[in-house]
Amino acid sequence: MRFIDEFRDGELGRGLAAAIRQAARADRGYSFMEFCGGHTHAIARYGLSDLLPPSVRLIHGPGCPVCVLPIGRIDMAIRLALEAGVTLCSYGDPMRVPASASLSLIKAKAKLGRGVGSVETAGSTAAGGGIRMIYSPADALALAQRHPERQVVFFAIGFETTTPPTALLIKQAQALGLRNFSVLCCHVLTPSAIASILEAPEVRRWGTLPLDGFIGPAHVSTIIGTRPYEFFAEEYRKPVVIAGFEPLDVMQAILMLIKQVNAGQALVENEFSRAVSRDGNRKAQQLVCEVFELRRSFAWRGLGELPYSALRIRQEFAEFDAERRFAVAYQAVEDHPACECGAVLRGVKRPQDCRIFGSVCTPENPVGACMVSSEGACAAHYSFGRFVDVAAVSETPGFVVAP
Ligand code: SF4
Repeated sequence: MRFIDEFRDGELGRGLAAAIRQAARADRGYSFMEFCGGHTHAIARYGLSDLLPPSVRLIHGPGCPVCVLPIGRIDMAIRLALEAGVTLCSYGDPMRVPASASLSLIKAKAKLGRGVGSVETAGSTAAGGGIRMIYSPADALALAQRHPERQVVFFAIGFETTTPPTALLIKQAQALGLRNFSVLCCHVLTPSAIASILEAPEVRRWGTLPLDGFIGPAHVSTIIGTRPYEFFAEEYRKPVVIAGFEPLDVMQAILMLIKQVNAGQALVENEFSRAVSRDGNRKAQQLVCEVFELRRSFAWRGLGELPYSALRIRQEFAEFDAERRFAVAYQAVEDHPACECGAVLRGVKRPQDCRIFGSVCTPENPVGACMVSSEGACAAHYSFGRFVDVAAVSETPGFVVAP
């Protein structure tokens, strides 16, 4: 297959569903975690769960980069704009993630637009603190070049997929000799999150979260390759199948996982061989290594403080590190008391288990981060899956439909 529509072919999908039904044994269940938000979105959008037999359960994982960012990190970005007077550049999704003091980046932007907040404070070379939504990291660099009187900060988030472009950006800024550009680096690492899930008490000690294998990341794996997952297959005896983001990719990966489980195997297999190799993109890895180093510890939403699970900018590029330049530090902040994002990110709860799902918390008014990005489990379920819940609610004993 070469074209995208071929990976969405209904007839082939039904054929794969039949093969899955045939392969799934009647005497056992199968629980697979899809790590990536891209997979979560595809599963919800194409209704893939509905094609699976009841014995095959998909669990959403922590692979949405916007969702795993804790409130304290969003607060740092807001403080840079409101207090340090920088022009903060962010992708669209992080702009809507709720932060402290009923703020978000988008609300802080409105606040700045009304002239509230200092714009002439330490770290700012000129008037004009602000928040800009960008589509590419290169937009932030171009803004810094056009406005040498402003301090421009790029709010860099994401897993290994988005890290090489940030590294390139920092090297370009250095080559251009830019003195008014820096990066708030919040890049996180996939293997650390998988390890955290596998070490979670629900999986390891209590067994309340049965986990038979992983649908491995697509885009992340184009960079890191399949090799890093071998540890999980060998040490934890969990099969991993790297899969693309199209519906047939996901169905094929599920079939491959079921076959491994039936055979008692724990291997790393690569369904997404059209883009992923065992070693990944060496050039990109070298670039990342040149600019970034491991952080000792990083706080994730839902997973807590994880050692060596994120990147920071190396000392050689310290002048482009917004945390050092503006002396802004991370402060932990509790999630909203009603929010179950942490449990959803660990796979312990489903979006519909949160009591404010779809009522108080909606994509228009997100209370938690998982309702913001289309890759977030709650947003995906709200957009494509919540109608399925209606029947479940109406079948609940005692449920009465209002006249
Ligand atoms: Fe968090 Fe909203 Fe999802 Fe509840 S419904 S877990 S508050 S994102």
